[in-house]
Amino acid sequence: MTFRKPPLLMTVVALCAMAVFFTTYYIAADKARNDLRAAGQRQLQIVALDLQSILDKFETMPFALGALADVDQVLHRPDDAQAIARLNQTLQSIQRQSRVLAIYMMDSKGKTLAASNWNEDTSFIGRDFGFRPYFIEALAGRAGRFYGIGNVSSEPGYFMAQPIYPAGAPRGQGAPIGVMAVKVDLSEFEHTWRSSDDPITLVDSSGVVFLSNRPQWKYHSLRPLDSRRQQELAGTHQYADQPITSVASLRKDWRRGFGEHIMQPIARQGWQLMLFPSQARIARTALLWATWVALVMAIAAISLWALYQRRRRLQERLESRDALRRAAQELDATIALRTQELRVANQALEGRYATLKHTESMLRSTQGELVQAGKLAMLGQMAAGMTHELNQPLAAIRAFADNAVQFIRRNQLPQVAENLEHISSASAHMGKIIAQLKGFARKSSDAIAIVDLPQTVEAAVLLLRNEFQQQAVAIEIDVRHPVQVMGDAVRTEQVLINLLRNAIDAVDGVELVADKRVTVILDREGKEVVIRIRDTGPGIPDDVAPHLFEPFFTTKSTGKGLGLGLAISSSIVQAMNGQLSAHNLPEGGAEFIVRLPEIPETSENT
Ligand code: ADP
Repeated sequence: MTFRKPPLLMTVVALCAMAVFFTTYYIAADKARNDLRAAGQRQLQIVALDLQSILDKFETMPFALGALADVDQVLHRPDDAQAIARLNQTLQSIQRQSRVLAIYMMDSKGKTLAASNWNEDTSFIGRDFGFRPYFIEALAGRAGRFYGIGNVSSEPGYFMAQPIYPAGAPRGQGAPIGVMAVKVDLSEFEHTWRSSDDPITLVDSSGVVFLSNRPQWKYHSLRPLDSRRQQELAGTHQYADQPITSVASLRKDWRRGFGEHIMQPIARQGWQLMLFPSQARIARTALLWATWVALVMAIAAISLWALYQRRRRLQERLESRDALRRAAQELDATIALRTQELRVANQALEGRYATLKHTESMLRSTQGELVQAGKLAMLGQMAAGMTHELNQPLAAIRAFADNAVQFIRRNQLPQVAENLEHISSASAHMGKIIAQLKGFARKSSDAIAIVDLPQTVEAAVLLLRNEFQQQAVAIEIDVRHPVQVMGDAVRTEQVLINLLRNAIDAVDGVELVADKRVTVILDREGKEVVIRIRDTGPGIPDDVAPHLFEPFFTTKSTGKGLGLGLAISSSIVQAMNGQLSAHNLPEGGAEFIVRLPEIPETSENT
């Protein structure tokens, strides 16, 4: 939805609502008007019938009264007081019985001879009603009907008169000798009309209201009367002597309800029964209907709107669910793709790792070969020295052997034995040299394993126990860290034996036995395992230090040192990725340091 749409939509809806409202109003008003008219018509018919029946009831009453016994007598003998008195009594009793206002009899001039109210203040006796239309009508042989205000009693009523013919004469023949009149009270009708909200009026032929449930309307005309009619009314004293004005000229609150009306004629009297349906009620009914319709429309609109909203929300939810599903699918696809990529990468890595492994093993074997080649090269270097070293004892052996032959010939056996001893010792010396070389030249068995250094030190010291005891040298082992390295245990032991033997040799010249001491310290420095072998000897002379690790370099007497120990030891340590170094201690004596890479913690237990 844009922001432009709602006002337009609202305007259309509002216009439609207004159109429906007003249409409903007018249709409802029309219907209400028709309904009210129909209802009014029915009501009027009932009222008219009621009225007609009352009027009819009294219609024949004057005629019947005209046949009373004394009527004729009184009309013929107006001075017969006894007959008049009797007639008066009779009329009075009949009036009381029939509940009419008055019954009276006039002679042919209009003078009242007998009346039911003969003994009342407002007695009609002697009164002349010759001017009254009903008298004139009756005297003319017709039924006189008239509504007006009595000019004696000032009470309004309906007057009905019939002619009286002479006794014995057939009806309709001859002139009437008198007129019998009955005055009827119609105000009872007004009482019954009071229950009706709408104005009900009874008007005479000239449009003057004489009975109504709106008291203010009485003796006012529905339309203005012309002067002739006004004079006529004044002449008959129909509504006393007040001038008749129109209802329309009344005060606003008095003429309320005056306007549209329906009529029912009361034919015989020339009257009109009128009902003024309440315009306010029509408007009220119409408004009620219109409001109802508006309300229903509003409820319908709200329901529709709610339904629309609900559907929209449902739609939105469906859409968002779809979007979610799509997103999930996309995610799945992406994950699958990434997984595939990862798998490929992993495979590539595995391939690379395999290559690396292969390279490493190649490197290792190459390294082994290199070490071996180095050793062989060293052996080559050593070859010259070795020939020299081996030549000397060999030459000595030959000389001793030659001499021994001479001694045998001379039979000098003790000398022979001496020479043989020399030969034995010289060959032993040669054996030693060869043994060392054999050990060095032997290709590594690749028996790489975890080497527990404290244990190895222990083993080396045990092998040299004799030497330590004979030379009275104290040995001290200080294990500051239970260190382990990766390598060949036998070779490591060989290194330790070489270094310990050198240390024993070094402290040999020390005079004080208490100062003859060799110390082995096992420690860790960073990622390295450090073995320190200290002695309390004279230390390494400056001129010796540069040649320390050269093969066949020795300061020791022939037969004691071969000058191979440090050279071989250094080579072994290097093969284990380590380093062998030496220096003098400030407090005197030499310190040889073996540095080896430590086994990483994780593989310690394997
Ligand atoms: P050898 O012991 O047979 O002489 P080495 O290679 O083991 O052969 O030692 C070479 C030389 O290094 C020795 O002759 C000695 O002069 C010197 N040397 C070795 N160890 C010590 C030490 N602990 N103190 C002083 N000098 C030493």
